[in-house]
Amino acid sequence: MEVLELYRRTGALLEGHFLLRSGMHSPLFLQSAALLQHPLYAEAVGEALGKLFEEEGVDFVIGPAIGGVVLSFVVARALGARALFAEKDGQGGMFIRKGLLVNPKDRFLAVEDVVTTGESVRRAIRAAEARGAVLVGVGALVDRSGGQAEFGVPFRALARLEVPQYAPEDCPLCRAGLPLEEV
Ligand SMILES: [Zn+2]
Repeated sequence: MEVLELYRRTGALLEGHFLLRSGMHSPLFLQSAALLQHPLYAEAVGEALGKLFEEEGVDFVIGPAIGGVVLSFVVARALGARALFAEKDGQGGMFIRKGLLVNPKDRFLAVEDVVTTGESVRRAIRAAEARGAVLVGVGALVDRSGGQAEFGVPFRALARLEVPQYAPEDCPLCRAGLPLEEV
């Protein structure tokens, strides 16, 4: 099944008038947790995303916590790889907790549900690279970067979505008088 159809079906794709954390307004918001809370759907998207990286010889998959934990797990399961996650270190970076194994030269795939700027998956990548692992790909359920996200390795997503964002003063939804929802 198409991933955006799953977002819709699980109420994870919201249409309206949203105030994003960046301060911008958008007619669309993706709430991946609403999809990934269903283990069968999570498994299905994990398998589909894993398939795109079968040839890469992945030793482990990593995602930024909290959103990337379930996704990392289901993709790793599909690839027969280990599932890791990186956590915020409180100083703008991320770290990998003790007990999660990173061998030098391990080949790893970084995943995130929705890539917009790619900043949060990049922090997880730096945490794994700091432990000597080698990035071989970046995967996302939805790429909404408009082709702007670049990682220097193959970047593949199950869907691409062009989502307009407006500064509050230029927002046509505000002009139309639609109530603004915080997300
Ligand atoms: Zn607006």
